[in-house]
Amino acid sequence: MAAGANRYDVVVIGAGPGGYVAAIRAAQLGMKVACVEKRSSLGGTCLNVGCIPSKALLDSSELYHLAESRFKIHGIRVDNLGLDLPAMLARKDKVVKELTDGVRFLFKKNKIAAIEGVAKIDAPGKVSVRGGEVGDVSLEAPHIVVATGSVPVELPFLKFDGKTVVSSTEALCFDRVPEHLLVVGGGYIGLELGSVWRRLGAKVTVVEFLPRITPLADVEIGGLLHKSLAKQGLEFQLETKVTGIELRNGGATVKAETNHGGSLSYSCDRVLVAVGRRAFADKLGLEELGGKVDPKTGKVAVDERYRTNVEGIYAIGDVIDGPMLAHKAEDEGIAVAEIIAGKPGRVDYDTIPSVIYTWPEMASVGLTEEQAKSKGLTYKVGKFPFLANGRAKAMDETEGLVKVLADSRTDRLLGVHILGPRASDMIAEAVAVMEFGGSAEDVARTCHSHPTLSEAFKEAALAVDKRAIHM
Ligand code: FAD
Ligand code: NAD
Repeated sequence: MAAGANRYDVVVIGAGPGGYVAAIRAAQLGMKVACVEKRSSLGGTCLNVGCIPSKALLDSSELYHLAESRFKIHGIRVDNLGLDLPAMLARKDKVVKELTDGVRFLFKKNKIAAIEGVAKIDAPGKVSVRGGEVGDVSLEAPHIVVATGSVPVELPFLKFDGKTVVSSTEALCFDRVPEHLLVVGGGYIGLELGSVWRRLGAKVTVVEFLPRITPLADVEIGGLLHKSLAKQGLEFQLETKVTGIELRNGGATVKAETNHGGSLSYSCDRVLVAVGRRAFADKLGLEELGGKVDPKTGKVAVDERYRTNVEGIYAIGDVIDGPMLAHKAEDEGIAVAEIIAGKPGRVDYDTIPSVIYTWPEMASVGLTEEQAKSKGLTYKVGKFPFLANGRAKAMDETEGLVKVLADSRTDRLLGVHILGPRASDMIAEAVAVMEFGGSAEDVARTCHSHPTLSEAFKEAALAVDKRAIHM
């Protein structure tokens, strides 16, 4: 173990799900660890302005929507229903505070030094920290892990002003429900935060450049999500790009062009730009030391052991290649700590699930049908609708289906795509089966509790060989 107050075995830069998990795992493995974070609270984008606050608002707004339009189906009458937005936002902030404080507690428990300030790598093994409460600090460690995450992409003709033209960060705390929220980008953030504000009463228009929303999803399942969100009142304008904005007091007129040459104009009071995120390794000093950073995407180049091309410097999470997801960052955090400790840490990139937390939720793992086709694989498809699932009926949540793709020759699962209630939780079973190289037959012969939503997965697996029982 390293000796001296500012000498560590590992210095992690960034306390998001990549960085804080790497720090904890390294400490568990007996290393002396410091984690530098420029925010005053730990947890990174995910806990402060990402996964957690967005899910808190999705859950609250879904309850509001249920109370407004669905409780009556269950025989529950609610008179004088009202929205207390400040209380809803305060609950979200409380959830964030409890979880970010929780990371601080875990750091204490694992004897990790949490150092506030902006880190710069001065040389291999040397990190300086500026702007923190305790003044400037110099740290030394043979291993430095860059986990500096990502930031929202800004469009040149639609600059963030934090009030009218905003990123997800501000869209998590609008002080009133917008009258008309224009969302640029029909991906994760646009659909999740668009759903939140739609449920709370805003008119929401999503402008998407491509011919479909969720462009990377299985086309059939993404199409069903589109229909469902449109039924909930979200408006979509596909194949359209925003070209400019005129700001006026409290609002804006946004100009757009369709890919077929048509011009459009939207009068709105808020514009959420959600066109992706850029990896963030700015002013870190890595490039000066010879580290490779892609000028377009900001991504830091690493090898399969998360090593940059500078001795002793590793990178993980959103700042490197791959999906920008918290669970991917966490798994890389564990892997890099184990690699530094001389263990065989690894991440299986073929089984990283993705979830869009709209309602119904859309969750998937593995290949989409389009990917299976383009790889020239021969596959069988099994589908099962929630309409025929007893628990979904009991919940009155019958929208959506489970779709299973299995290799025609080996029956091995290639991909699973779910649109439906609690798809986010259901997908875990598919991930586990795929991680073990399991087949549709394995799922079909696994006993599933009754009545549960997960029986729809078993039935879809049975449907691969056309032997679903309840359909
Ligand atoms: P980050 O969480 O971005 O953390 C990096 C940290 O490094 C930051 O705290 C930053 O302040 C710090 N930092 C940067 N530079 C320095 C420096 N020089 N010195 C000191 N500190 C520095 N993913 C999911 O899997 N599920 C979701 O439901 C989900 N929802 C999301 C919702 C929203 C609105 C957003 C924006 C993102 C969401 N994500 C979600 C993505 C998820 O937040 C990221 O994939 C995840 O946070 C990446 O983790 P990370 O540790 O790589 O980086
Ligand atoms: P995204 O990549 O999910 O979606 C961006 C969308 O914007 C795409 O559909 C793209 O075609 C479209 N687009 C790009 N440029 C455009 C333009 N000029 N005009 C109109 N449309 C345009 O990005 P995001 O929604 O900003 O989210 C960023 C990242 O954060 C996600 O990729 C994801 O990794 C992460 N995230 C994950 C979750 C989750 O896991 N549930 C939730 C939120 C964010």
